[in-house]
Amino acid sequence: MIPADHPRYRSLVTRERLADCARKGVVAMEGLTAHGRGEAFDYLLGERTTTSALLAEKTAAAMLMAAHHPVISVNGNTAALASREIAALQKASGALVEVNLFHRTEERVAMIEKILTRAGADVFSGEAERLLPLSHDRAWCRRQGMFSADVILVPLEDGDRCGALAGMGKQVIAIDLNPLSRTAQRATLTIVDELTRALPEITRACTGLSETDRTRLLSTADNHYLLSEAIREITLRLSHALD
Ligand code: ATP
Ligand code: MG
Repeated sequence: MIPADHPRYRSLVTRERLADCARKGVVAMEGLTAHGRGEAFDYLLGERTTTSALLAEKTAAAMLMAAHHPVISVNGNTAALASREIAALQKASGALVEVNLFHRTEERVAMIEKILTRAGADVFSGEAERLLPLSHDRAWCRRQGMFSADVILVPLEDGDRCGALAGMGKQVIAIDLNPLSRTAQRATLTIVDELTRALPEITRACTGLSETDRTRLLSTADNHYLLSEAIREITLRLSHALD
């Protein structure tokens, strides 16, 4: 039992949820260490949505709204932490939701699809094929799903697949707290923010932005700027850490 007045309450509840999902097989054991790396970077960022992250979230919304075939790719950690937020974003953006896993088994895919469906998402499932140019199981996807996507949102992505998707000519939006990861560097647009803070902001922007705002955001999108701002925020916090 985690006391509600614990100063790290939110973080502890999140860990408990992930551990519980790992015991059930929804989250891969390796997913727990990936979460730990995310937490470390979130600490350095001050566990808040920075100004540049908010700009990235609005730009992501503009990209999803301008897409012909937007897809949201979901893995175990994302389903465990944010299935309701994924369902809400799907409603606001009209994107297709598809499961894609590094540690892939049919059983895990089915469990994650069930969690998403229960949370209100309309999951694109069915026969998957080995369609992406990758030697690992993130290659499996659906021909009418992420294989055909023009814009794809990849929360907590692996750098290899991010690169492969971008190499296929897709616009890739990553959510990754580590601005130095291969994913962050290879994506078209990187949101350096925590998943459960980022998704509601994208959803809000999908309905809240005017067409003029969206056009401006699309024409000024600059991933190098967003990453350098995230690194600047971290550096600034570190340099004042003992003030
Ligand atoms: P890459 O493959 O891109 O080089 P990596 O191998 O270091 O990255 P992965 O294990 O592939 O990392 O992916 C996990 C990434 O997800 C980490 O960079 C981590 O910072 C990020 N991450 C984990 N949990 C969250 C979260 N809740 N919100 C946002 N980002 C997260
Ligand atoms: Mg990786």
